[in-house]
Amino acid sequence: MTAKHVLIIDPDRDFAESTKKFLRSQGFRVSCASNGKQAIKKIAPESPLVALLCLELPDMKGQELLIRINEMAPHLAVLVTGHCKEEEISKLIDLGVIDFFPKPVNPSDLLKSIKNAASFFRPMRADLGTDEDSLIQKFFPFLIHELRNPLQAIGGAVSIIEKRSNLKDKPLSQSIRIIKEEVQYINGFIQNCLDFIRPSNKNFWIEFDLTELVSQCLKRLAYIFEDSIDGITINTYFEPSLPKVYANYEEIKEVVLNLLKNAVEAMDQSDIKALEIRVTHKGLTGSGWADIMIQDQGRGIRQDQVENLGTPFFTTKLRGTGLGLAICHKIIVERHKGKMMIESRENQGTTVTIKLPVRSAPRAT
Ligand code: ADP
Ligand code: MG
Repeated sequence: MTAKHVLIIDPDRDFAESTKKFLRSQGFRVSCASNGKQAIKKIAPESPLVALLCLELPDMKGQELLIRINEMAPHLAVLVTGHCKEEEISKLIDLGVIDFFPKPVNPSDLLKSIKNAASFFRPMRADLGTDEDSLIQKFFPFLIHELRNPLQAIGGAVSIIEKRSNLKDKPLSQSIRIIKEEVQYINGFIQNCLDFIRPSNKNFWIEFDLTELVSQCLKRLAYIFEDSIDGITINTYFEPSLPKVYANYEEIKEVVLNLLKNAVEAMDQSDIKALEIRVTHKGLTGSGWADIMIQDQGRGIRQDQVENLGTPFFTTKLRGTGLGLAICHKIIVERHKGKMMIESRENQGTTVTIKLPVRSAPRAT
């Protein structure tokens, strides 16, 4: 595996040199750029995982460079070093900055944050070309409509057959069970498709507590998986005094539930079944990122399949729809300007982290 690469973008040579030395001593590969142009030149060939960015560059504004970075390398984790105006922070978070370090920078804090950003996360992409997107948008409602009505009729009819049949007749009762399960499966599939194309409902944007949301999702998870959840050890950590987030409650719930479901499904054959959920906050009070990390000890994802994650309909499950991660990506990255990162080792487990920007609800005028 190649060393993790950090790009320091800073005109202050002393800072750049000492930080480079320090990070190298910690096993990182480090390169430096003293202005924006140099940084742009280095980003594509070197594809660093983390950039330490000083906003006061001699040749361009830091925000301008951030916009370029988002175009060229949207998954580069940017940490801002040095002075930064309080009122600029939320804009910078919108531009993807994940942490802030006023100078003088405390090396161990910086290292912790870099490790967090770089060491284990692999960003996920869910690219849908515009053509595909519009095809899906047009075709799904039609397909769903065509499937839903006959399905409801089948479901209703089979219930009547069930009530009027002699269920001691084994082949008959088995056949009824199969029809019911299949109807349920197709209904689930349709629901997933609907979730994928449904436009965002603005009414669900509220300020809420992530601890409460995650607890609700865990209750729902127990309901979905019934007895099989008993074999799983679930550890939760909620950082004390977590800030509230302003986001679409229903959508974030859907994301967390999708991720939890994937985690449980991945552990169906595992000897050790342990699920860890951590909710933490990074950054200054009232801003920064709220992180939800979901870690399982399941089968993991093969390296050659990692690239497919989030692509609609990519699934390795017999009965998967391959829409769960695509929905999560759409909600977190497109609709909430958050980040979603996934790290997985085959036969060891998977860690998914979502980062939501912390901001308060807009004041009513
Ligand atoms: P589905 O669950 O219907 O397959 P998803 O979009 O939720 O669709 O997931 C797509 C694929 O990503 C899964 O089929 C699986 O291969 C992989 N995957 C997602 N989460 C995990 C996980 N926690 N552990 C292992 N593989 C996972
Ligand atoms: Mg899934």
